[in-house]
Amino acid sequence: MTLLEARGLQRHFGGIPAVDGVDLTLRAGEIHALIGPNGAGKTTLVSLLSGRITPQAGRILFAGEDITALPAHRRVAKGIAYTFQITSIYPRLTVFDNVALALRDSRDLPRAVGAALARTGLQALAGETAGELSYGHQRLLELTMGLALKPRLLILDEPTQGLANEDIAGFKALVRSLVPETTVLLIEHNMEVVMDLADRITVLNFGRSLASGTPAEVRANADVQAAYLGGD
Ligand code: ATP
Repeated sequence: MTLLEARGLQRHFGGIPAVDGVDLTLRAGEIHALIGPNGAGKTTLVSLLSGRITPQAGRILFAGEDITALPAHRRVAKGIAYTFQITSIYPRLTVFDNVALALRDSRDLPRAVGAALARTGLQALAGETAGELSYGHQRLLELTMGLALKPRLLILDEPTQGLANEDIAGFKALVRSLVPETTVLLIEHNMEVVMDLADRITVLNFGRSLASGTPAEVRANADVQAAYLGGD
């Protein structure tokens, strides 16, 4: 089943085509990696999917429904969660209160926060001030906030950036535990993480989709090797 389908997405910034006619298909339950050189348009593409910005052309279907014109908060309500490249936690609040804020209207808030923290293993830190957590734990808190609403699609923008190796191992195990209930779209520069986790990969280059397929297919693609992997 297809969960998300984007067709012909266009987004220019002052004449520069950041995303230039991109098609993307996400299958329900997969881990899909989005890779490409710096400036290829990855963040712009996921910003279009999450509704932070709107496209100048193209369509986005989510679970068969056209969401192209929906504002970001309506997309969150439909089950699209997005964690930012930049830390988006409230540093002066506790871990617990950060997750409670992400959940807002939940009927049984303490239980829902507890469940979200248990999912990512942060229960023991619930009472800590978020800003005093280690960097790795702050990233995990962001992920917890994204997961708290039990999204159908979780979009992660460079989640392993700056993480220590042992934290990356934990992150990979956590992402694997999310599927197939949650579909994951992962922007990732660490090719080891990509090749380890991804069911399918889409490669962007100069705002266009260069290739899309399994890790083996993408690795074998001559255009991709020339543009990005450098014959890796
Ligand atoms: P990185 O891997 O470095 O995060 P990326 O693949 O996510 O790169 P984008 O951040 O989407 O790439 O940028 C694509 C292009 O669009 C770049 O040339 C960038 O300078 C430009 N761009 C992105 N956002 C804006 C904006 N708000 N205003 C102007 N130009 C922008």
